[in-house]
Amino acid sequence: AASHKTPRDEIGPRQVRGAAFTWVRPEPQQDAELLAVSPAAMRDLGLALSEADTDDFKQTVVGNKLHGWDPDTLSGPGYPWAQCYGGFQFGDWAGQLGDGRAISLFEATNPATGVRYEVQLKGAGLTPYSRFADGKAVLRSSIREFVVSEALHALGIPTTRALALSLLPHSRVRREVTEPGAIVVRFAQSWLRFGTFDLLRARGDRALTRQLATYVAESVFGGWDTLPARLSDPENPAADAANLASPPRAVPQHETQGPAGSEENRFHRLYREIVRRNALTVAKWQAYGFMNGVLNTDNTSVFGLSIDFGPFAFMDTFSPSYTPNHDDHFLRYSYRNQPTIIWWNLVRLGEALAELIGAGPDCDAPSFLAAGGGLKPDDPASEPLIARAEQLITLAGEEYKAVFLAEYKRLMTARLGLRVFRESDFEHLFSSLLDTMEALELDFNLFFRRLSSLRVSEISTAAAREDIATRFFYHDAQAPPPSAADRTRVAEWLARWRERVVQDWGTLEDWGGSGSGGAVSEAREAERVARMKSVNPNFVPRGWILDEVIKRVEKGGERDVLRRVMHLALHPFEDSWDG
Ligand code: AMP
Ligand code: MG
Ligand code: MG
Repeated sequence: AASHKTPRDEIGPRQVRGAAFTWVRPEPQQDAELLAVSPAAMRDLGLALSEADTDDFKQTVVGNKLHGWDPDTLSGPGYPWAQCYGGFQFGDWAGQLGDGRAISLFEATNPATGVRYEVQLKGAGLTPYSRFADGKAVLRSSIREFVVSEALHALGIPTTRALALSLLPHSRVRREVTEPGAIVVRFAQSWLRFGTFDLLRARGDRALTRQLATYVAESVFGGWDTLPARLSDPENPAADAANLASPPRAVPQHETQGPAGSEENRFHRLYREIVRRNALTVAKWQAYGFMNGVLNTDNTSVFGLSIDFGPFAFMDTFSPSYTPNHDDHFLRYSYRNQPTIIWWNLVRLGEALAELIGAGPDCDAPSFLAAGGGLKPDDPASEPLIARAEQLITLAGEEYKAVFLAEYKRLMTARLGLRVFRESDFEHLFSSLLDTMEALELDFNLFFRRLSSLRVSEISTAAAREDIATRFFYHDAQAPPPSAADRTRVAEWLARWRERVVQDWGTLEDWGGSGSGGAVSEAREAERVARMKSVNPNFVPRGWILDEVIKRVEKGGERDVLRRVMHLALHPFEDSWDG
């Protein structure tokens, strides 16, 4: 038949079947220059910092030297690979995507900690999943990923990590303009994405879905026994307070089994583990004002990590509808939407696992294995399984909310210097602070840092609070001073905060002492200040800082600026930095 299509139109990217990855070799690189390493990453991988000076290291981090594989004999225990996954992008199914510019080199276990990482290169050339792109990464985005990965980790936010950044001085990568290329070495306990399961679902590959889910439980997490316990009341997950602790408490094996006949489906427990991890991570993003910018399901981690940093940002002046993604016209990935969108992604994951989740308490039951065709929406035989899966996903949603809220409250309570959360804090301290920040365009992270070193004795009178309130506005020579009304609004919040600090930290004598609503002893104040400074960063990698670093490296040929910004990123809570 006549066709106007060219062969290339007909072909498109080859669709993989029956596998979740492909062996692939990084492109050889000439004259690559190692620009920087993360000392924290070296340590966490069990490497001495001096190893970064060796030729072996420099060749490894650009993919020229393969460990565990001998190119002469074509043999060895390992060969690099690229993962195959799909994804829902901006809400629509995008089909097969995969590691188009990431190549995993090997898995390595730190002998001191026993933690195993998958080490991968980003920007090392084409893979079978590159589709119509070039497999390369530009220096600009590589610097951003290198710094933010380590900054998030230092803030205590689960994330993929970055070990090293190399420049490919002779490569000219075409984007809107031609830019230099680079390779980042990154590592994580798992690079699996929700999109890995989405793709298996789209292929209808039930066997591989089950195999991969089993692998996640047994080899990525610590085994089935380490997955969350049954809830005493699944309708009310907040009732099990210990379950909401961060990090979640270790669950003794006997508790995961429950009374005979009531064993919870183990794949539902696996799903709940993924739900809980993501709830904890998104709560931390919200508490620290971090936005990923592209929370497609291919950029959402099964391990609950922050992953795939594109147009990410830390909140500057507080604005809940802010999105760092210029293409995000509907604000799908804005700050305020992140918790909802991660849940949306988790529901897609639940659907991919629905057959395993819905199969009942014993998912190895013969009826399940005999079913043959998977879940079919219009098939009466599938109906009970679908209904059961829907019910279990909904229950996991309650758990998601409870874990998210508990973690968010815990972090905000700590950021405000309080030891004990009270229900009224949510409205009187958290919400009113965020509303004030938004209305007055105050800087989100700077506010908490400046608040940290304030003594309650400095703000015991209304006049003192009005005066000190100016500290929380931008110090910009051009900016007009804050209006009296704006200062009063901050001062009123400070009065409420002061009262709670005194209530939380003061002793009975403190209350009896001064006539101005109590005091707190200097020893306790010092402890509070130290605690607040240990959770309220003095450094976050803001967009303009990264732009400045990029400019200096790219245009100015500076190198030391990368080491220095990495030092700040790795020590975000210091008052000042040497070196
Ligand atoms: P992202 O939006 O960056 O998460 O990427 C979506 C998909 O496009 C993933 O499968 C990436 O691997 C792929 N991709 C992005 N940039 C490139 C590139 N320069 N070369 C090959 N694949 C890419
Ligand atoms: Mg991605
Ligand atoms: Mg990307």
